[in-house]
Amino acid sequence: MSFETLNLNELLTRALSAAGYNEPTEVQASAIPAALAGKDLMVSSRTGSGKTASFMLPALTRILAQREQAAAERKAAGPAAGGPRGPQPFTNATRGPRVLVLAPTRELAMQVAKAASDYGRFVPGLRVATVVGGVPYGAQLAALRGPLDILIATPGRLIDHLGSGKCQLGNVEMLVLDEADRMLDMGFIDDIRLIVDATPKKRQTAMYSATFSGNVGRLAQDLLRDPLRIEASSQTESHADIEQRLHWADDFEHKNALLDHILTERSVEQAVVFTSTQRDADWLADRLHDMGHSVASLHGGMPQGRRTRVLQGLRSKHLRVLVATDVAARGIDVPSISHVINYGLPMKEEDYVHRIGRTGRAGRTGLAVTLAERRDSGMIHRIQRYTTQRIPAATIEGLEPKRPEPPKPFDRPARPGGKSFGPRPHGKPFKPAGKTFSKAGPRPAR
Ligand code: AMP
Repeated sequence: MSFETLNLNELLTRALSAAGYNEPTEVQASAIPAALAGKDLMVSSRTGSGKTASFMLPALTRILAQREQAAAERKAAGPAAGGPRGPQPFTNATRGPRVLVLAPTRELAMQVAKAASDYGRFVPGLRVATVVGGVPYGAQLAALRGPLDILIATPGRLIDHLGSGKCQLGNVEMLVLDEADRMLDMGFIDDIRLIVDATPKKRQTAMYSATFSGNVGRLAQDLLRDPLRIEASSQTESHADIEQRLHWADDFEHKNALLDHILTERSVEQAVVFTSTQRDADWLADRLHDMGHSVASLHGGMPQGRRTRVLQGLRSKHLRVLVATDVAARGIDVPSISHVINYGLPMKEEDYVHRIGRTGRAGRTGLAVTLAERRDSGMIHRIQRYTTQRIPAATIEGLEPKRPEPPKPFDRPARPGGKSFGPRPHGKPFKPAGKTFSKAGPRPAR
């Protein structure tokens, strides 16, 4: 299938060609025609599947159509009605956005905003604003005061603006909930319902979520009217472009030695190393910095300005290694990330899928390496059950584990919560009890 068959406006297909896209991805091919026909959507699609364009292109189509209609109306009404110099296309300013996208994190919101600007680059005077937490209110207020086409927001900050009457959503024609499951995990359910109540009942709604079970399913039932259900690729489908490997570490020192070895491999163009906590991320970034890596940490406890600078550093390749937590890493879309390394395991098995999706992007291949100690075996087991794939165990010459690989508990039911096997609880110091670790310690022998 080609983009031509989707009947998109020429201003959009031009932007897609400029972005180097030859054909729609699976989710785009399914979602775009339905969205253009005005249908509500309920979409599960894996990260990196091109889902952003699958709602942004229909959103931009809506904006273009509205402008063309307004221009035609002005023309029909003649110069007297069209302002001092007759018809003026693309100036039909309305208060409040026509399209509202809700996203769980600042990073994802910024990523969606970038996609809106990229795909809408030839749409004259396109007005896109983001409203996210952790940044000053001033610029957001100014953007909300002016005419607006697309607003991309995290629920918490949008609620602030709604509460103060600074944002009005009465013109919303299309509402998108991106990563809805994650927004609910983060406790945004009441905020989302308040926001939805502020939009017109007659609107198009698209929900994107890894799962539609439990609360997300109930929310979908409440918000969507006769939706088209799209499962572009199930969450458990393999990431064909991503090779996965599992290294068993005997202990903390062994794990660090494995990490150090992998990071010095020439094949590492750029790597994202995941930790379980913010504290671990800072600690590990310090340690890698002391070892001479160009590295920075990225987590939700950092001010937005710094987070943006870190991401710019990654994009511009000033940074080779990023040490990140799950929440902060959502939405990182840097094609040159060749490696994802799980240094601390995720709290939830679906986060594993999101993590490894940071590599193997935009048609490239990637390597996802998980470093696990024996106590992580429960989480490894749950991840494998979730993805329905075994992560192949691997070793590095000279750094083989001394202890045998833990037994594979495939037939045991998953432990609810999994606290005793999962990653370290938040806020716990990283060092194992009774051991000291020298930050500037010598590199392990290889
Ligand atoms: P997303 O799943 O929206 O985060 O997109 C993942 C990546 O795929 C981004 O780098 C997009 O720029 C890229 N992408 C989206 N659609 C296409 C397409 N049709 N062809 C090639 N790359 C695409």
